[in-house]
Amino acid sequence: MSLAYEFSKTGNRSPKICIVGCVQGNELVGKKTIEKLKKIKIKKGTIGFLIANVLAMKKKRRFIEIDLNRAFPGNSKGKYEEELALKIKKIVNKFDYVIDLHSSSTKTPPFVIIPNKKKENEKLAIATNVKRIVYTKKRIAKKRAMLDHVKNGIAIELGLHEMKSTETAGLKAVLNILKYLKMIDGKWKNQNNRERFVIDEELKLPSKKAKIKIRNFEIVQKGEEIAEGKSYKIIAKKEFYPILAGEKAYPDFLCYVGIKINQK
Ligand SMILES: [Zn+2]
Repeated sequence: MSLAYEFSKTGNRSPKICIVGCVQGNELVGKKTIEKLKKIKIKKGTIGFLIANVLAMKKKRRFIEIDLNRAFPGNSKGKYEEELALKIKKIVNKFDYVIDLHSSSTKTPPFVIIPNKKKENEKLAIATNVKRIVYTKKRIAKKRAMLDHVKNGIAIELGLHEMKSTETAGLKAVLNILKYLKMIDGKWKNQNNRERFVIDEELKLPSKKAKIKIRNFEIVQKGEEIAEGKSYKIIAKKEFYPILAGEKAYPDFLCYVGIKINQK
């Protein structure tokens, strides 16, 4: 099977930023954002546009064999996505910053994911002006995600798959970064209303047929009912903020447990 990805770039010299879409093929927000960004004139620097898993995208699937975002650093004799990861890694490594755009099967306000607390990643997150910033305490992806193999990079979850509001949020966040880096016209203005969360743990669902009773980023009190199945109830052991609750992409997944943190 030949490896399918689409890459192009515009501009020259630094800063070099790569916008990545369709790391998961059914998440089209990155592709839509890239189509719009390609029409924009840049003042300085280089923008790369990468549609990562083109074959999965064409088949309207998350992946062909395994999740590309769990296939890094790649393997030339591995599964389809492991071979693809090798190619993708070579491309994104040439950039100072990588912006990885995602959508979800569950309703959520947009949020930035910072895979590790590097200063540059913090700057990128602020530059998006996305209100919610989520830090992953333990490496959820166990160094198998694309962003574990770049110089600097953040992921942005933008909302439900194939919604207009998701696309709008994607374009807005990237344009904010480009303004912040002075790569395009327009003044970057700090929104100053950020909320920060750290992912503490992951909650699982014992059965598929369960009713999830919480909403993303809406506080859950200790003792509150989180989900109800045929023969069980799941009760919150502590106060938390649900993140990606109800996402169908992961087996047995209920939600990430977000703890709100105070930080300037
Ligand atoms: Zn995704």
